[in-house]
Amino acid sequence: MTKKVLILPGDGIGQEVTASAKEVLDYLVAKHNLDFAITYMDVGGTAYEKHGSPLPDDVLVEAKKSDAILFGAVGAPKWDNLDWDNRPEQALLGLRKELELFANLRPAFLFNELASASPIKNNIIENLDILIVRELTGGIYFGEPRGLVDDQSPHYAFNTMIYNEDEIRRIAKVAFESAQKRNKKLCSVEKANVLEVSKFWRSIVSDMAKDYPDVELSHQLADNTAMQLVLNPNQFDVIVSSNLFGDILSDIAATLTGSIGMLPSASLNSSSQGMYEPCHGSAPDIADQNIANPIAMIASLAMALKYSLGEAKLSESIDNAIKTFISNGHRTKDISTSDDALNTNEVAPLIIEILKNDSAN
Ligand code: NAD
Repeated sequence: MTKKVLILPGDGIGQEVTASAKEVLDYLVAKHNLDFAITYMDVGGTAYEKHGSPLPDDVLVEAKKSDAILFGAVGAPKWDNLDWDNRPEQALLGLRKELELFANLRPAFLFNELASASPIKNNIIENLDILIVRELTGGIYFGEPRGLVDDQSPHYAFNTMIYNEDEIRRIAKVAFESAQKRNKKLCSVEKANVLEVSKFWRSIVSDMAKDYPDVELSHQLADNTAMQLVLNPNQFDVIVSSNLFGDILSDIAATLTGSIGMLPSASLNSSSQGMYEPCHGSAPDIADQNIANPIAMIASLAMALKYSLGEAKLSESIDNAIKTFISNGHRTKDISTSDDALNTNEVAPLIIEILKNDSAN
């Protein structure tokens, strides 16, 4: 059956990095005769300028019909003062909400050749390969009631951290299954020492462990995990956490690798429909200069092939090609120490060349 891929470049370097990913995708489609239907649409500030909304209705309709969405990035200072509903970020939040993309998968891995770009000592960071599974549509970011009370003294504000059993089970299932496909270690992170919702989270995850006897489950308090990620990150394989703690921990993990232009992410729903995007933003400071690193977007395409498009082998081929690209010494400006860095549009052709030389591709 035809697989539908929707490409949403968005703003700034989102346009440039999605073009690179599309080149790699086009090569694979032609080479392997893949039955993919690929559509391009506007989101973010670009869509606001052209169509009056950061997430036009027809984009949402198309997104709901798609198997995989490749999302570049959105935002730029010129749209920062728009009212909330028209801000570019609404594209991202709207898609996550409407497609119920509850599982955010953020791998953090280090190319040992780039270890010097990490703020952490090489011997601690070498061979880093972690997957953070963050709950994305619940928890304190969405919990009700919430609000600001400014008609009493003192004024106060409040939010609600809430998870029901189903929400915990569905994210923990993604995490256990991810661990089964990796090194079979899962660390569930919360604050069970001080929060009822965390104690509940821990009890549900512990109960599920009996269904995954091949996975070694541990529990850690979030403040300790923040410290352990810096002190001894290689103790982790898969980490699962709530929206709030996962948000913070995944940014710490991304920082460990020292190169935001290299890290992909996936946000999935229960039908394996997914949105795939780099961890970086639209980088207005370098937009339209042909110097952005497109690897995070190309690696996001690899995740899309694996999780939503049923092409795990091709996904692995892209990951391997990226490794070869780095070990061959190819560098864009953000990860280069020399003056002759590659331009954005030179990266995909080199990745394709490596794929061609790999006998399977
Ligand atoms: P950013 O990730 O866009 O940029 C941070 C720094 O990293 C900049 O110096 C940028 O030049 C550099 N950088 C980022 N990606 C790079 C790449 N692929 N290659 C080389 N260098 C790269 O974060 P920011 O500056 O905080 O935000 C800029 C805009 O992006 C804002 O409008 C923000 O709201 C938006 N944003 C969007 C997303 C998203 O769409 N998912 C995520 C984060 C930020």
